[in-house]
Amino acid sequence: MNSQDIIKEDKEYIAPTYARFPVALKDGKGSKLYDYEGKEYIDCGSGIAVNIFGVNDEEWKAAVTAQLDNIQHTSNLYYSAPQAELAKLLCERTGASKVFFGNSGAEANECAIKAARKYSDNKYGADRKEIITIKNSFHGRTIATLSATGQDEFHKYYNPFVAGFRYAEPTLDGVKTCANNKTCAVMVETIQGESGVNVLGGEFLKQLENFCREKDILLIVDEVQTGNGRTGYLYSYEAFGIKPDIVTTAKGLAGGLPLGACMLFGKCAGVFGYGDHGSTFGGNPVACAGACNILSRITGDLLLEVQGKGAYFKTNLERIKNVEEVTGMGLMIGIKTSKPAADIAAKCMQKGLLVLTAHGKVRLLPALNIKKEEIDTALKILNEVISE
Ligand SMILES: *Cc1c(COP(=O)(O)O)cnc(C)c1O
Repeated sequence: MNSQDIIKEDKEYIAPTYARFPVALKDGKGSKLYDYEGKEYIDCGSGIAVNIFGVNDEEWKAAVTAQLDNIQHTSNLYYSAPQAELAKLLCERTGASKVFFGNSGAEANECAIKAARKYSDNKYGADRKEIITIKNSFHGRTIATLSATGQDEFHKYYNPFVAGFRYAEPTLDGVKTCANNKTCAVMVETIQGESGVNVLGGEFLKQLENFCREKDILLIVDEVQTGNGRTGYLYSYEAFGIKPDIVTTAKGLAGGLPLGACMLFGKCAGVFGYGDHGSTFGGNPVACAGACNILSRITGDLLLEVQGKGAYFKTNLERIKNVEEVTGMGLMIGIKTSKPAADIAAKCMQKGLLVLTAHGKVRLLPALNIKKEEIDTALKILNEVISE
């Protein structure tokens, strides 16, 4: 197979929901990827923040294949060692009390929505179920998580959407305007990824936490993209000094296998009982074995390294002509320039660099172990493309 054959077959048989780059990736090592013609690319997307330690990582592969040698799946009617071990790791590292595993970010958020509504139902009855989300947020592609997503462009074709979501400006006043005696939760991304790597203010998050606590409104933080070391913190809420009631994550959690987690803290610990929620594949043992390996390697030293690499990227990106603003934290980076982001991404690809875009910005989400010389190659190509 060559790239052209693959592209032709894809176009013939796959529903065209993705505007794909004209490249098919075959293999690689770390942050270096190769297409079917052997062309090399530096990867500054890592999937979309998924391949935490790049591709073909020996330690991660060993953890995953060891589990494959044992058992590839058990239903959730039986106990599972990798699942229990991962839940323990997550709780020990975050202070969460209980974890529910799904397969994706959207499923993790579905679980958070259910948990918030059930918590409120148990305590306040059936009529207090509204959830406030933030304008320009992104929470997933299922009907409920699309409904939670605070962007009009996602609210077409598929109506009726799920009732009970209100969209607030990212300010305390914005949230207060949407809050009433039916509000059960506020769901936020600390850094809005899909809408352009917009960092929500630390002051806002702190005020929001206080407001929620006063009213027994649950604070849900969607760490699907920001989680698992991406920002230089294990979970980004730590950087803002807030204590959420529910945290969701997915993307990088299992280092390249599908896995989502909804972590329940403190007063939410006991919200679910038998039969309240479930998933056939959720918490797959192979994915959980991969995730245990990933989590055990996101150490304090690695997080400092991520912060350092993020600062290095930012300093050097800000020096590039035509760069107007660099946003983000750690290795979650948005670049605003005077040029169309899609053109920049296409030109970078020709020169052997894979970058992502988000709402008119170039977005970088490289593997956390990207090497210094790979960062320098990426910066050189970005400089050539953006400053020309
Ligand atoms: C990607 C993303 C999701 C959806 O995750 P899927 O695994 O694609 O379902 C939800 N929330 C945020 C913040 C995301 O970045």
